[in-house]
Amino acid sequence: MKDLDEKTIRLIDRLEAEHCLTLEEYRYLVEHESQEAKAYIAPKARRIADQVYGHDIYVRGLIEFSNYCKNNCYYCGIRADNSRCDRYRLTEDVILKCCDDGYDYGYRTFVLQSGEDPYYTDDMLCRIISKIRERHPDCAVTLSIGEKSYESYKRYFEAGAQRYLLRHETADKDHYGKLHPARMSFDHRMNCVRQLREIGYDVGIGMMIGAPMQTSLNLAEDLKFIEQFQPEMCGMGPFIPHDDTPFRDQPAGTLDMTLYLLSIVRLICPHVLLPATTALGTIHPLGREMGVEAGANVVMPNLSPTEVRQKYLLYNNKICTGEESAQCRGCLQARMSGIGYQVVVSRGDVKRPVA
Ligand code: SF4
Repeated sequence: MKDLDEKTIRLIDRLEAEHCLTLEEYRYLVEHESQEAKAYIAPKARRIADQVYGHDIYVRGLIEFSNYCKNNCYYCGIRADNSRCDRYRLTEDVILKCCDDGYDYGYRTFVLQSGEDPYYTDDMLCRIISKIRERHPDCAVTLSIGEKSYESYKRYFEAGAQRYLLRHETADKDHYGKLHPARMSFDHRMNCVRQLREIGYDVGIGMMIGAPMQTSLNLAEDLKFIEQFQPEMCGMGPFIPHDDTPFRDQPAGTLDMTLYLLSIVRLICPHVLLPATTALGTIHPLGREMGVEAGANVVMPNLSPTEVRQKYLLYNNKICTGEESAQCRGCLQARMSGIGYQVVVSRGDVKRPVA
């Protein structure tokens, strides 16, 4: 590797062997992202993913059941203050029908995602979760509904939700303050992440790559947090601006940095479930395939009714908003088999390291 500096090679090799680095070393890796570094690390990350998960790609059926949100994250297209967002809520019956259809298409995990929408009470959510579990006992229910109280998290868990996605967004408190209004709290969010773990959920964290005002140190802090927390899932996609947000003029995150960080995270956590996100597919037509080649092993096709998909726009130009659910599944299956991987009918549980 003549174009790659010695130190980057050494750090990547150590990360592969030991799965941890110091904060400064992570920062060095982030600052030395290059085509050569990516070409050096990606095959290592893919080899580790293959050792744990083989050529299986897990699918999660994503149901975006409400685009109402009480919050105002500066980067998000469905933030409360966006008056141009056409709001919708799915009824319990429609959500259950999405799951029934999804089951027939071969999904064994349903991800219920929404803004922070107080319309859905804990009673309603628990009823929906239990009904999904009753109708499809061989399926997992994942929640992605934001910050709630400990008691609420506990109730959803007892109703049958076993996984929770709550991106930490950034492990740096100052950076968090630049992405969110003052009434949102970094400490509260991090506390929620810890409570989810304590209750027993499989926890998914993650961050946007290239978020406004993100520094190499911020990304290094994210990597250190991932190393210490050891999440079951880690969602990382490029930041993409949305026209109706305060960050409309900010540059998007890059494909290259996202792929590089996917590989780094695979080396940090060999067993983590790592999605090749829709945002990755939005910034490049083959982004999700490249994500898998960089070490990802999960894709999350949309199961929401086609008529509402255009309304759940967290960022500009989101892909797959016009397709039927069956088309999405077929498309991803074809994309994955095109690069030698297979989408499997499975709950896709995390494979925990042997102690
Ligand atoms: S990122 Fe989540 S919490 Fe923030 S405004 Fe968007 S939907 Fe609401």
